[in-house]
Amino acid sequence: REHSAMASKSGPSIHGIKDIIAVASGKGGVGKSTTAVNLAVALAKACQLNVGLLDADIYGPSIPLMMNLHRKPEVSEDLKMVPLENHGVKCMSIGFLVDKDAPIVWRGPMVMSALEKLTRGVNWGNLDILVVDMPPGTGDVQLSISQRLQLSGALIVSTPQDIALIDARRGANMFLKVDVPILGLIENMSFFKCPKCGEKSDIFGHGGAQRTADKMNLDFLGEIPLEIQVRSCSDEGSPIVMVSPDSLTAKAYVDVAGKV
Ligand code: ADP
Repeated sequence: REHSAMASKSGPSIHGIKDIIAVASGKGGVGKSTTAVNLAVALAKACQLNVGLLDADIYGPSIPLMMNLHRKPEVSEDLKMVPLENHGVKCMSIGFLVDKDAPIVWRGPMVMSALEKLTRGVNWGNLDILVVDMPPGTGDVQLSISQRLQLSGALIVSTPQDIALIDARRGANMFLKVDVPILGLIENMSFFKCPKCGEKSDIFGHGGAQRTADKMNLDFLGEIPLEIQVRSCSDEGSPIVMVSPDSLTAKAYVDVAGKV
């Protein structure tokens, strides 16, 4: 697919990368990183693209665990870091560089300079798409990333609850304010299907993200169930898209990948 069609006015700002898209959420804990990881793997495996994954969640990096990458990156001759690769995706995270239990207590400018190193200080090679796992919320850092990386688009993850959707709307409006196109909303933890009896329960409600997308005139990209395997695969460092590509959930992620 021709991804450059999606690029905003001036196009992405890192040499060799065609498109940079953000996976964002207004709140933490709604499944933003899980979505970013499965989307990146789906884009690489199912869509056959050259994909990178940047963990921009400096205070809570999840990519080392979710992609099972625990080494320190090497530095190449041009003094850039070589991204670590797993499941066909090139990854970079602050978690590769600092001790896993050390608290990261940096103020904003330090976070921005770290992010600068994690983006332009990396030998990404030629990428069709760089997926950015954003920090949760709509603060200074999120705004700076959106502007400095000249994002081609942003995808918003929310659970169906009002409390999460309010923040998702805030997130969407932040991107719109800086002219980053919203690729659409995803509803995570959309429903639970009992593995024993098959009954469906809407633990956090259902359909809220679709209604929010309709109200804001945004695309709704799909729903991902609350499922033990999504969590256990993440914890083991092998995303469900990789482990159970034939599952309905993996197909839902691939479907989202096809829409971005
Ligand atoms: P965020 O990046 O928004 O903070 P994470 O992706 O880290 O959220 O997810 C938070 C926790 O919820 C993780 O333990 C993850 O494995 C789990 N999780 C996320 N999505 C699902 C899902 N659809 N089903 C089950 N567990 C999920």
